[in-house]
Amino acid sequence: MGGGVGGLIAAKNLAQLHPSVDVTLIEKSPTYVSNFNANLYIGGLITFDEISHTYDQLVASSPIKLIRQRAAAIDRKKKQVSLASGEALAYDRLVLSPGVDLRYDSIPGWGAEFEDLMPHAWKGGRQIALLKLRLDAVEDGGTIVVLAPPNPYACPPGPYERVSMMAHALRAAGKRNCKIIVLDPKESFSMQGLFEEGWESHYPGMIQWIDASIYETIQSVDPKTNTVVTGFDTYRNAALVNVIPAQVAAAIARDAGLVDETGYCPIEAATMRSMIDPDIYALGDACLGGDMPKSAYAASSQAKVAAAAIATDLLGKPPASNSYESVCWSEIERDDAVKYASRYELRDAEIRLAASTVSQMGETAELRKANQQEKFRWNQTLVADMFS
Ligand SMILES: Cc1cc2nc3c(=O)[nH]c(=O)nc-3n(C[C@H](O)[C@H](O)[C@H](O)COP(=O)(O)OP(=O)(O)OC[C@H]3O[C@@H](n4cnc5c(N)ncnc54)[C@H](O)[C@@H]3O)c2cc1C
Repeated sequence: MGGGVGGLIAAKNLAQLHPSVDVTLIEKSPTYVSNFNANLYIGGLITFDEISHTYDQLVASSPIKLIRQRAAAIDRKKKQVSLASGEALAYDRLVLSPGVDLRYDSIPGWGAEFEDLMPHAWKGGRQIALLKLRLDAVEDGGTIVVLAPPNPYACPPGPYERVSMMAHALRAAGKRNCKIIVLDPKESFSMQGLFEEGWESHYPGMIQWIDASIYETIQSVDPKTNTVVTGFDTYRNAALVNVIPAQVAAAIARDAGLVDETGYCPIEAATMRSMIDPDIYALGDACLGGDMPKSAYAASSQAKVAAAAIATDLLGKPPASNSYESVCWSEIERDDAVKYASRYELRDAEIRLAASTVSQMGETAELRKANQQEKFRWNQTLVADMFS
């Protein structure tokens, strides 16, 4: 369930490597807009078409049966998924990769009814397109306020790559007097030194990051007047407010009782099998992946482990060795990408960091450009692995 990164890679691995398994994919949207490329679109580095993918080629070229409907509920006792149409679908094993839901109640004054006034652009193509439209309409000298999310959330460096890409788009349009203020409930963020160094050199004076020890709390927002009130200051008449709220596993997982008190699905580290239901495997942003970040790379790595574990479980195949990896590349400016690459191992029944490398401050322009090219190659491979 879920035709995003985790669901598609798991489905394709099962269908290709174990043809005797019948694989059905349930996805509610006709088009997948890849979040993991959304910031590059917002920066104007790639087009909306380049981040939009249909399932047509997958359906034509693989034995996977696609059900284009919303899964309404999971009946774990009967091992059935009920669809929005009312039809029920039986499963032997269910792979659950529905991503995250936004916590609309996490910012006072904001909510689903205001997401067009203060877009999140953290889920769904419509929101991503809206944020880009709104950004392009900001006039020179305008102030943009970005509310960053608390941990854990999809893509740890994502909000800061977004801010970089916003600054890139503004400067490319000659709007050098705009300001972007990031209000962050966290004391620090992923690859902070690298981002701050890049902001200083590419966009001097344009981006200001403030953590909650300074602004205290977000007391309220008023979407109708684009106002953000913090314990310390009030930002009135902002040109744009981008609210990236707190997140939890998608409703289908929560409603089926597959999450713990964190709001995410606990899993057995060696297999991605749910700790709550042994017939279900939970992947990607919706799961508690130990030390792994919620990234597309991680979801894909987890999906391969789950597919192998299901083959062992259903077909008695010898257990595969499980290795987990993630690489997060972040674009600070065109041709200036930084990266955090990590490998994970099983320790004390948890997925724990085994080794990592991260870009260094002051690196050469050639190295940063090579990172960007590496990211584009990885993107192309991932998209091909998912949709063809
Ligand atoms: C702005 C942004 C930038 C990012 N940048 C990067 C990056 O540079 N690199 C990186 O590695 N990661 C990045 N990520 C994170 C990456 O996109 C996610 O980690 C990844 O997509 C997770 O895969 P997933 O399978 O868990 O969920 P998703 O890819 O979100 O897929 C979930 C799918 O489930 C479907 N679904 C949900 N509920 C139902 C239901 N009830 N019935 C049917 N279908 C359902 C949804 O429609 C969706 O297609 C970024 C994320 C964001 C938001």
